[in-house]
Amino acid sequence: MRIKRVAAVAAVAALALGLTACGGDDGGEGTGADSKSFAAGTTMEKLNKAQKIKVGTKIDQPGFGQKGLSGKPEGFDVEIAKMIVEKLGIPEDKIEWVETPSKVREDVIVNGTVDLVAATYTINDKRKERIAFAGPYYEAGQNIMVKKDDTTITGPDSFKDGTKKVCSATGSTPIEEIKKYVKDVATQVVPFDTYDKCRDALKSGQVDALTTDNVILLGYIAKDEASFKMAGDNFTKEPYGIGVKKEDTDFRNFINDVLEQSFSDGSWKKAWDETAGKFGATLGEAPNLNRY
Ligand code: GLU
Repeated sequence: MRIKRVAAVAAVAALALGLTACGGDDGGEGTGADSKSFAAGTTMEKLNKAQKIKVGTKIDQPGFGQKGLSGKPEGFDVEIAKMIVEKLGIPEDKIEWVETPSKVREDVIVNGTVDLVAATYTINDKRKERIAFAGPYYEAGQNIMVKKDDTTITGPDSFKDGTKKVCSATGSTPIEEIKKYVKDVATQVVPFDTYDKCRDALKSGQVDALTTDNVILLGYIAKDEASFKMAGDNFTKEPYGIGVKKEDTDFRNFINDVLEQSFSDGSWKKAWDETAGKFGATLGEAPNLNRY
């Protein structure tokens, strides 16, 4: 059943690409493919007709979504989003990238500020009350980053004595998780809207640790190995999904098809190797998509 479905998806995708190649393509790579056709009334048709799309992502997380010298974000999330956009038949330069810090992600999906969010976005039931997720396309895990010379923090239990301050992003799963370990939330848990602010606060000694997903921390460590290190093992599972409107099952299914194809045709691994894979995290096997 599953194998048949994969084959069917691959065949449909191959057909779409074939049509593009015959459809007056001027030969330019990555110029988009407006000759695709989608069922009337779907988000895919609407976006393809409009020939533009708004994508929410992070811009301060090396390896996943970080603003590059071009002014555009770069990273694994960005590459995954580009794959989806390409299959919608929209040229890459018609993507409007919108910075979506952790706490605004559900809001910008619900109110239509963006068409999808690819932003180290953990799939969970609470978030599914307001939005829907395609994926997962990666599984991260929460960890802790400390100053290179710190020997006092070795894991989340190190916050139990009430003396250490830990920073994380408002609206994230790690900030909620770490509250279970600290003695006093008000004095020990320091919230910022973005993780780069936490990193700066750690570097300047205003806080003792930064907690979020291992892959985000590995990006910061890779950029500043003299200052930071990881303080232990992952202590949660953070499966990353693409956020879309809750009721938009067709669009969610379409994105799952794109992800499934990328798992099997090598583009998912290639995207990883060129981005976050450079910073020491492992990709592992392609996750099982949760097609609910
Ligand atoms: N994956 C976690 C979350 O979705 C942490 C990373 C982030 O805040 O983007 O909350």
